[in-house]
Amino acid sequence: MADRPARVPGEPLARGPVEGADAAEGPRVGVLALQGDVLEHLRMLDRVGARGVLVKRPADLDALDAILVPGGESTTIGKLAGMYGLLEPLRERIRAGLAAFGTCAGAILLGRGALLADGRASDQPLLGVLDTVARRNAFGRQVTSFEADLEVAGVDGGPLRAVFIRAPWFEEVGPGVEVLASVATPAGERAVVVRQGRVLASAFHPELSGDPRLHRLFVTSLPRSSPASATPRC
Ligand code: GLN
Repeated sequence: MADRPARVPGEPLARGPVEGADAAEGPRVGVLALQGDVLEHLRMLDRVGARGVLVKRPADLDALDAILVPGGESTTIGKLAGMYGLLEPLRERIRAGLAAFGTCAGAILLGRGALLADGRASDQPLLGVLDTVARRNAFGRQVTSFEADLEVAGVDGGPLRAVFIRAPWFEEVGPGVEVLASVATPAGERAVVVRQGRVLASAFHPELSGDPRLHRLFVTSLPRSSPASATPRC
């Protein structure tokens, strides 16, 4: 995992109490556990009242209400997903309506295309369930990692602290894709949070800021699969 530090220095981990949400009854959200910030996402899901479960094999996709694809290194995650026989079942499930949330490398993986930082097409396995083309490592060498306060459409309560780590931006966004947040760059405004139907993607790492609002936006949008599925209450 050469281009992904294990932790952002000085950044608190999302941990602690469940904030009143009854995660035991919430929607079942699989976290693709091949690489990346799996534990931090599980903690965030717990905080917003969802049941996080690890996904490592195709059978783990059964009985999920949603799937979360963490950051890490998108080429590695894509190749591992292929080796574990997960790429095709994941693609099929999401195309059939399974809600998905991809963060950073996970957001790249959901898209239909990816570019390298210099704009050349990247030949890497992708899920192709989101009409986006991400530019990898788009923010350049000087700011490979940075934080920003972002207004995100649909997220109330003021700007969200966003942790970008060798982050992509969405270079191309199809007509059916809503842009929920953008960042001003020397090249102009670039989309960093997008949504298309039940697929949500963020170029940054919402699991690292201690702020669960993007996870909550995702979890509260999930269809209730059974009467036992509780609406998150925090
Ligand atoms: N730079 C990585 C990639 O292109 C993504 C980095 C991350 O997930 N923090 O796959």
